[in-house]
Amino acid sequence: MAESEVNLTKTYDAIVIGSGAAGGMAAHVLTRHGLQVLLLEAGKKLPVEKELRSMEWPYDNPYRGQLSPDQHSLTFNEYTIRNPPYGPGSEKAKHLKSYIGSSDYVKNIVVDERENPFTGTNYAWVRARCLGGKTNIWGRLALRLSDYDFKAKSRDGYGEDWPISYSDIAPYYDKVDLYLGITGVKENLPYLPDSIFQRPTKLNCAEVTLKDSLAKMGRVLTQYRAGITSDGLKHNKYRSRCYGRGACERKGGCDIHAAFDSPTGLIYPAMDTGNLALRTNAVVREITVDPQTGKASGVHFIDSQTMKDYAVRAKVVVVAASTLESARLLLLSKSRLHPNGLANSSGHVGHNFCEHIMGPGVTGRARNLVGKPPTLDDGRPGGFYLTRFRNLAEKHPKFIRGYGFEGGSGSTMFPRVTDAHGFGAAFKEEVRKNQGAFISMGAFGEVLARYENYVDLDPVVKDKWGVPALRFHYKFGDNEHRMAEDMKETAQEMFEAAGFEITHVSSRVLTEGWSIHELGTARMGNDPKTSVLNQFQQSHDVKNLFVVDGSAFVNASCQNPTWTIMSLCWRSCDYLADELSKGNL
Ligand SMILES: Cc1cc2nc3c(=O)[nH]c(=O)nc-3n(C[C@H](O)[C@H](O)[C@H](O)COP(=O)(O)OP(=O)(O)OC[C@H]3O[C@@H](n4cnc5c(N)ncnc54)[C@H](O)[C@@H]3O)c2cc1C
Ligand code: SF4
Repeated sequence: MAESEVNLTKTYDAIVIGSGAAGGMAAHVLTRHGLQVLLLEAGKKLPVEKELRSMEWPYDNPYRGQLSPDQHSLTFNEYTIRNPPYGPGSEKAKHLKSYIGSSDYVKNIVVDERENPFTGTNYAWVRARCLGGKTNIWGRLALRLSDYDFKAKSRDGYGEDWPISYSDIAPYYDKVDLYLGITGVKENLPYLPDSIFQRPTKLNCAEVTLKDSLAKMGRVLTQYRAGITSDGLKHNKYRSRCYGRGACERKGGCDIHAAFDSPTGLIYPAMDTGNLALRTNAVVREITVDPQTGKASGVHFIDSQTMKDYAVRAKVVVVAASTLESARLLLLSKSRLHPNGLANSSGHVGHNFCEHIMGPGVTGRARNLVGKPPTLDDGRPGGFYLTRFRNLAEKHPKFIRGYGFEGGSGSTMFPRVTDAHGFGAAFKEEVRKNQGAFISMGAFGEVLARYENYVDLDPVVKDKWGVPALRFHYKFGDNEHRMAEDMKETAQEMFEAAGFEITHVSSRVLTEGWSIHELGTARMGNDPKTSVLNQFQQSHDVKNLFVVDGSAFVNASCQNPTWTIMSLCWRSCDYLADELSKGNL
C-alpha cells in the first residue's frame, strides 16, 4: 500500500497517533464513517513477511534463528540486577533489544533500547516501533472482560468500578470477533464471556487429561482463544485463513496474516476507503492546543530519519500510541492552559498504572505418552487457557482478584522442555522419547491499579529524537506477591491431581513489565477529579481529544487486554464520529 503525503495545509477531520491495535482500529472505524483521517506512526513500514519468514527452516538461517553476535537481548538477570536505562554494561552489542527481541525474526520489530531509553524502577518494557506496533508479534490470546472486572470494586471494595458494564461493550466485542476472526469453544462462563468463534483448534492428549481432571475440581480449561481466522474472512483480501503450519510456536508473527495484525486487519482496508493518509517515521512529540479555546489543534511530529519537525492540524486528535507512550505524550504536551500536561487537571495521567504479574508455573510429564509417536502440536495458534477460579464465588483469605494460566503440551519442532542429560545418540533418543509427553503452564494475574504506581518524564534523559524519556515509579505490591505464591501452589496441585510427574515448579516472579500488558495510565471514570477520560475515552478537560488504547483501563483484570482495547476503541470512535457530525467537538 502506498503512503500519501501529509498535507500540511489541510485540517484533517482526525489525526490518529500510533498504528497498533488501538490506532489501527481508530483508523478503520473513523474512515468507515467517512472522516478524512491522518495516521501518524513513529516507526517504519517494515517488509514484515521478510522479517518473520515463518516457513524458514532453522538450518537455512545463519544463526539458527538466534541473534547475530552484534545484537543482544536483555535477560531476566540483567533486568533484575541493572537499573534502566539498560544500555550500560552491554557495550559490546551494537544493538540492544528487550527480552522479546531474542530471535532473528523479531529483532527489527522491537526497538533498540539505546535509542529509546527510560529510567526509574526496573521494568521490562517491550516496544515495537513499526507499522502495526506490537500486533505484528502478539501472542493472540483474545479474551473478553466481564462485569467481574468492570464492577470489581462493587464486588471486593478495592479501586474504582468502570463507568461501563459488560452490556455496553458486548456488541462491540461481537463486531471485533466478526471483523477480525477468533477461534475458541463456548463455555458459558459468567466471568469469561464467549466470543463468536470460528473453528477451534484441538486439545491434545495431555491437555484433555488435565481438562478432565480440572472439571472434577470445578475448574475450566478451554482451547486457546486465538485472535486468528481459522475459517477465513471473505471481506478482507489481505488476510489468509490459518494453515496450522507450525510456526506459531516461534516467537514472532504470522507471515500469511491468519493471525490478526493491525496493518492487514485494519489499516490496509481503511486505506482502501480513500479516506486514510498514512505517514510512517513520524514521531509525534507534542499535541498542540488552541490558546483561545484550550482545545487540541493538531500535533508536532519529527521525521525519524531526517529529524525535520512538522506541524499538522486536525479537528480531533486521537491518541493511540500504547498505554505508556500515550501517557508520555500527554505529559509532554504542556501549555499555559494545561500546565500539568494535556488532559491532566486531575493529576492522574501516568498514575493507576497496572498490568499482569507473571512467572509462577509448572512443567510435568504425562508418563503414558513417553515413547509414543510424535504428533503435530506446533501447527496450532495456541494450546490452552485455564480460566480464573479465585475470588469468584468464594473469597480468598490472602488476596483479592484472580489469575489464569496459559499452557500447552505435545511435540514441537524444537522440544519445548527436556530434562534429558548427556550427549550423542543416547541423548537424542531420550529427548525424542520424552518431548511429546511434556506439559507446562504459566500464570497471568491481575496487578492492582494503585495511584502510587506511576510514570512521569525524566528531567534529564532524552531519546534519540531529543524527546524526554519516561521515568518509572512502579513495583508489584503485597497482593501480587501473595497471589504469586498461590499460583505456584495451585499449579502444582492441579498437575498432581491430573497424574503428571512434576519436573519443574517455578516460583520466580518475572520483572515488572514482562507480561507486555501495560494499562491504566489515563483511566476512564465519571468523576473528572479522579479520572482522565469519560466512558467514550474522551478527555474530561479537552473535548476533541480521545485516548483509545489501554491507558483508559480502570483495572487490569487477569485477561489479556487487546480484544478489549479494540472493542472499546470501536465504541468510542462511533461516538466520536457522531459527536463530530453534530458539531459537538
Ligand atoms: C510478544 C507479545 C505477546 C503478546 N501477547 C498478547 C496476547 O496473547 N494477548 C493480548 O491481548 N495481548 C498480547 N500482547 C499485547 C498486545 O500486543 C498489545 O496489547 C497491543 O498491541 C496494544 O495495542 P496498542 O495500539 O495500544 O499498542 P501498540 O501495538 O504497541 O501500538 C502503538 C503504536 O504507536 C506507535 N507510537 C508510539 N509512540 C508514538 C509517537 N510518539 N508518535 C507516533 N507513533 C507512536 C508505536 O510505534 C506503535 O506502532 C502481546 C505483546 C507482545 C509484544
Ligand atoms: S498456526 Fe496459523 S496463525 Fe499460527 S503462524 Fe501458522 S498459519 Fe499463522
